[in-house]
Amino acid sequence: MKVAVLALQGAFIEHEQVLQRLGVETVEIRQLKDWQQPIDALILPGGESTVQMRLLKELGLLEPIRQAIADGMPVLGTCAGMILLSQGYLGTMHIRVRRNAYGRQLGSFHTTGSVEGIGDDVPMTFIRAPYIEEVLSADCQPIAEVDGHIVAARQGNQIATAFHPELDDDTRLHQLLISLQ
Ligand code: GLN
Repeated sequence: MKVAVLALQGAFIEHEQVLQRLGVETVEIRQLKDWQQPIDALILPGGESTVQMRLLKELGLLEPIRQAIADGMPVLGTCAGMILLSQGYLGTMHIRVRRNAYGRQLGSFHTTGSVEGIGDDVPMTFIRAPYIEEVLSADCQPIAEVDGHIVAARQGNQIATAFHPELDDDTRLHQLLISLQ
């Protein structure tokens, strides 16, 4: 299988390294022609969601990627990638997200927690992180909470995390992504 990693900006290399450790072929999406090949799953990395959105539009990638996700392509969106999946951005996930939700001082922290469908003791590194303010439909489920805030959700083949699984030594979320077809 081949997993695409959006490589316009942000923390994409770390995702590629996790996938390589799992023995999965990766392809970087930098322009429209990179998208025009058989792809089995997609990772939207952390970074700066406003910059990523602008580049997706400028490069003509926004609509093809949105359509593929809407058609069921498995996707993992982390941090800014979760913002991209939310309402007002690509809008494929029925979640409303608050950007930079922890403020400047508490914007970056590490904890561990349970993720439904993954297990316990999942390491969670937050960097100027968003959280999910509201899940907007019944086909979208919150799968993790930290301090009373939703920090991960799943809707069919779409997985979104406010934290950065690629920065810790735990590959379970990536394994979940590649198990989806
Ligand atoms: N604060 C960033 C945003 O709003 C997200 C930060 C991250 O991806 N680590 O896009």
